[in-house]
Amino acid sequence: MSQAINLRAYIRDVPDFPKPGIVFKDITPLLADGDAFSAAISELSCFVPQGVDAVVGIESRGFIFGAALAQQLGLGMVPVRKPGKLPADVHGVDYELEYGMDRLEIHRDALSKGHRVVIVDDLLATGGTAMAAIKLVRRVGGEIIGAAFVVELNALGGRERLAPVKVSSLVQYD
Ligand code: AMP
Repeated sequence: MSQAINLRAYIRDVPDFPKPGIVFKDITPLLADGDAFSAAISELSCFVPQGVDAVVGIESRGFIFGAALAQQLGLGMVPVRKPGKLPADVHGVDYELEYGMDRLEIHRDALSKGHRVVIVDDLLATGGTAMAAIKLVRRVGGEIIGAAFVVELNALGGRERLAPVKVSSLVQYD
């Protein structure tokens, strides 16, 4: 039964990746297990209310969960990508990382005005990445109904940063 699966057991800590001091939450064991992956998608789908028009997935691990979730819900998946990857006209948002800056882009015609979307990524840390995706969705006329993550690192304050956007996550770490 998928409800009985402890998803935390499928998330592996990799210390000092990608740099010293960072404990990387590796979700590849979860992806590799059919029952755990299926349970994760089914639990994420419970966070998506009726009336949502599309799932927005953030490159790159957000594509994996976002695409599977969209398919399960019978919705389309809109990619928010790293710079220079989307081929047609884009809007971009620059945002701050712990060290330095990054940028995300969305196709200008990705959503219609008033389209209701849920944003999906593998992990919420400081919330900078998800906030950039939220800004992009709003820039193209979309309405944010919520943001859903597999993993949430509570201590980094992402949930507070995204407020009042409703944040949901499957596995939390203090
Ligand atoms: P943030 O913008 O700080 O919320 O960081 C979230 C983004 O960075 C997500 O796309 C994650 O995939 C990635 N990320 C940040 N910290 C970690 C971590 N400790 N383990 C795995 N991925 C992380």
